[in-house]
Amino acid sequence: MNEANPCPLCGRPLYGWIALPAASGGVTVGMPLGSDPRSERVIDRCEHCGVALEHGRTVDLATEWAAIDRSEGDGDGAIALPNRASLQAAIGVEGWAGIDRGPGSLLLTPRSLELLGERTGHEIASVRTPLSIRAQAWMLQTMLNGLTFHPNFAREVRAGRLRPANARSRFAFAADAVVTVLGAPLVVLVSVPLELIGALARRGGEIVAT
Ligand SMILES: [Zn+2]
Repeated sequence: MNEANPCPLCGRPLYGWIALPAASGGVTVGMPLGSDPRSERVIDRCEHCGVALEHGRTVDLATEWAAIDRSEGDGDGAIALPNRASLQAAIGVEGWAGIDRGPGSLLLTPRSLELLGERTGHEIASVRTPLSIRAQAWMLQTMLNGLTFHPNFAREVRAGRLRPANARSRFAFAADAVVTVLGAPLVVLVSVPLELIGALARRGGEIVAT
């Protein structure tokens, strides 16, 4: 893949990482139906600080900080976002369930979060990747994504975005429903200890910072 813009956080070159189908993920919510489902979004990453972002996107660091800073909203002062340097992101790659769960347009790692704080004049006291319910859910969904035709099947069905009518096929929808319902209890037996190992190795699925 072609070389892209420099990393918005550390200035090193960005390299093409993965391509996502345009139809998946919250980024495309509101896109008109019938837009070309084959068009892909290329995600670049920085091999130095670990941040990832959509190819060619211009990023305003102050806006990115405002998107993740919850110190004024619900007042808990904590930042919580998916960890691109996590074990689950490494397992899932483009099937990682946390990939579109970030509040801004940057997919951050603990290192790149610290850089974003520095660059926007905010002090980050601690960065951890603890065990969390959200991280466990993402690990489970990431592993199920390896088994189903549709990415994030359970989440998309629950949100009402995926129905038999707009599935790849009725067979694929039915197969995913069976795999999700019957497979989830078994996959949990693997996903829970894996996420625990990730958290212990400081590679948990969610970054929590103050
Ligand atoms: Zn960088």
